[in-house]
Amino acid sequence: MTRTNAALMNRPGHLMSGPGHLVDSVLAVVFPSACPACGRLLTRPRRGPLCEPCWASLPRHRHVACRCGLPLRAGTSACPRCRRARQPFAAGASLGPYEGSLRVVLHQLKYAGRRRAAARLAEALLEEPAVRALVATSDVLVPVPLHPRRLRERGFNQSALLAREIARRTGKATCPQALRRRVDTVPQAGLSAAARRRNVRDAFAVHRRALVAGRTVVLVDDVLTTGATVLACARRLREAGAREVRLLTVARVV
Ligand SMILES: [Zn+2]
Ligand SMILES: [Zn+2]
Repeated sequence: MTRTNAALMNRPGHLMSGPGHLVDSVLAVVFPSACPACGRLLTRPRRGPLCEPCWASLPRHRHVACRCGLPLRAGTSACPRCRRARQPFAAGASLGPYEGSLRVVLHQLKYAGRRRAAARLAEALLEEPAVRALVATSDVLVPVPLHPRRLRERGFNQSALLAREIARRTGKATCPQALRRRVDTVPQAGLSAAARRRNVRDAFAVHRRALVAGRTVVLVDDVLTTGATVLACARRLREAGAREVRLLTVARVV
C-alpha cells in the first residue's frame, strides 16, 4: 500500500460518505491496495487492512486452556499459577496464536495506525462463545494503559481502541483512565521473562479506585507474551479492591 493510500484510509470523513460498498468499490479501483498478510487485492479497503478471506480465517486457538486463559499441558486441568492459587486472573480468553494474519493485523493496528482493525478484531473476538461469556458477566473493561509520552507519540492506545470496540458491541462500560502507567518502561520485546517482570513491577497504578472497587474487571490487551505486564496490572486492580479480574487479549504468543 502506498503512503497516500494509507493516509486516505485513516482519515475519517474523507470519501467516506455514501453507501459503504460503493465507496469501497471506488477505493479499490482508484487506490488498489494489497492485503499485507497474503497479497490479494482488497475489495473492501474500508473494512480494515486485511482481505475478506484473511479476516474469515484468522488463526484460532485449537487447544484447551486453563480457566485463566493460559494453555494447559496435556493431562492437567489447571496451569501452575492457578494450582498454587497465585493467579490474579479468575478467567481469561484470547482469539488465537500470535502468528500469521493475526500477527500481521495487530502490527497494522499498532505500528501502521490502521485503527479500523480494532473494530474487526472486536467482532472476531465476540464470535467466540467463551469471550462473549467472559464479557457478559463483567462490569467494566479496562485497557492496559500506555505511558502518556508513548500515547502522544503513537496518537492512540491500541488496547483502549479494542476495549472501546468490544464495549460498544456488548453494552459494557470501558474505563481507560482506571489504570495509569507511571513508568515509561523500555520495550518488553527481547527481554527475558525475569527481566520483563522487573521492568513492569511498579510501572502501573490504579488511578480511579472507585471505578474498579467491588467490580468484575476485564483487562484488555492486544498480545499476551510472558504475561508480565498484565499480571502487574491485575495485581494493582486486585489491591484496589476489584472483586475479580479477567484477561482478554486478541492474541497469545504460543
Ligand atoms: Zn489476505
Ligand atoms: Zn490458570
